[in-house]
Formats: sequence, C-alpha cells, structure tokens
Amino acid sequence: MTATPSHRLVDSARRRTLHHALILQGPSPKTLRATAISIAKALNCRNASDGDGCPSCQKIDRQIHPDVRALEPAKDRKAISIEQVRELVAEAGMRPYEGGTKVYIIDPADSLSGAAANSLLKTLEEPAPDTAFVLLTRSADLLLPTIKSRCQIVFLRPEHDDVEEADPELAPALAERLASFAESRDMGALLGIAPLLCAGDAKHGLALLAATLRDIAAGVATGRAAGVASAIPPSRLLDAAQRAVEGIDALNVNADARLLVEDALMLLAGAKQ
Ligand SMILES: [Zn+2]
Repeated sequence: MTATPSHRLVDSARRRTLHHALILQGPSPKTLRATAISIAKALNCRNASDGDGCPSCQKIDRQIHPDVRALEPAKDRKAISIEQVRELVAEAGMRPYEGGTKVYIIDPADSLSGAAANSLLKTLEEPAPDTAFVLLTRSADLLLPTIKSRCQIVFLRPEHDDVEEADPELAPALAERLASFAESRDMGALLGIAPLLCAGDAKHGLALLAATLRDIAAGVATGRAAGVASAIPPSRLLDAAQRAVEGIDALNVNADARLLVEDALMLLAGAKQ
C-alpha cells in the first residue's frame, strides 16, 4: 500500500516529528477535517494510535478534549474574528491540560480576517512546546504569504468518493468550458467562465481556476480537463494560473472579480497583455 500524504502526516505525528504548523489544502473540507482529527488523535492517544477507544481519542471524537480545539467562524459570521484569535493565542501559551499536545484546528483558515491572521503570526512562529496548529483551506493561495511562510503546506486529494465541495458543479463546469475553448477556440466558452466563477465566492472561484490550470499543466487533471493540455502550452497555463492567484490578492482591495478572471483567461487565449 502506498502511503498517502495524509498517512505520512499521521505517522509523523505519532513519531513526534510533525511540523508544529501545518496548512492542509485541498478541495474536500471533509477530507481536510478528517486528517486534522487523525493528527490530533495521533498526538494525544494513550496507545500511540491514530484513533482507538482510549479516553483521549473518545474525547476528541466527542469534541470535548480540552487540548484539541477547532477555531471556526462564529455562527452567522463568515470570518474568524480577531477576538477569537486573541483568545486562542492566550490559551496556546498554557500547558496542555492532559499532558499531550495541544492541537488547534483552524477551519477554514481563509476565513481569518487580515487582522486576525496577523495576530496569529507570532504564535505560529514561536509556539509553546507541545502545541500544533493545523490550518485547513481550499487553497493555500487564499492565505497571507506571512502565514504560508511559517507553515508546512500539504495538498490532500479527496479520499474515497468524498467529493463534498462548496459547489460540486463548479469544477466540472469550469473543465467543460476550458475544454470547449481548447478544442475549438470557442471564445464564448472562455468568456462564460468569469460569470460562472464569480457567481459564488469569487476568491474560491479564482483559487479553483488556478488549481485547475496547474493540474492541467502538470498532467494530473482528469476528465474533460485532461484534454486541454494538448491544446495549450504549459507555460501559458501556468502564467494564467499565476494571474488568477494575483487576482485573489487584488480582490482584497476590492478589484472587480470578473475582470480579474477575464484577465487571467486572456493569457490562455494568448492575447497580449
Ligand atoms: Zn487513543
């Protein structure tokens, strides 16, 4: 059996060689969360397992373990507030209650407001001993560079047939349009991508575009998207992916989301910039 990145992380946690700050990125929130929980168990299990019936693992399952905390946006909020992070930072300075490792799961890390992310930086860089941070996100590109530089970044593919996504239709619809453009230079298909990606959360739309273009360039895309690689050179795909990532940053200063998507896509068409 080949060890998946998820297995390798859990194994490192058991051997106490895990980096103290991790970013788990991937399209399935469920897979990311499940891996974070397995890591928390491996760091705290009484029997050095990654999940058994010991009191510690049971408490983690019931979400009542005092040293394993999930930081999420409060109900009816989209962002994790600076107050929530300040509370976490204060707590992270204390000893673990049960003698294991404190684990803070930030889910999703891209919902940290800018100020909240900044107030986490010092703790991420110099955490107390026996403390681990696990940041979950659809794409690390959504996080501040200062956060990314302090963390080990691991990409996790959805496990089993778990394809839970914010919008499960979005990736196939994007692949379909990219393929139509690649096959017949159908500009209509290309121009249809911007409204598609900006209908929901435009940051996620741009991140999906960047991830999809990179997968195609790397030859790991599946389904309709796989054929795009033969029609568009990798350098052009990667330039467009990079432009999409820059678009995510630009959105933070209120740029127009559709224009940002179109800007990236015009690189695919080979238009002069
Ligand atoms: Zn256990």
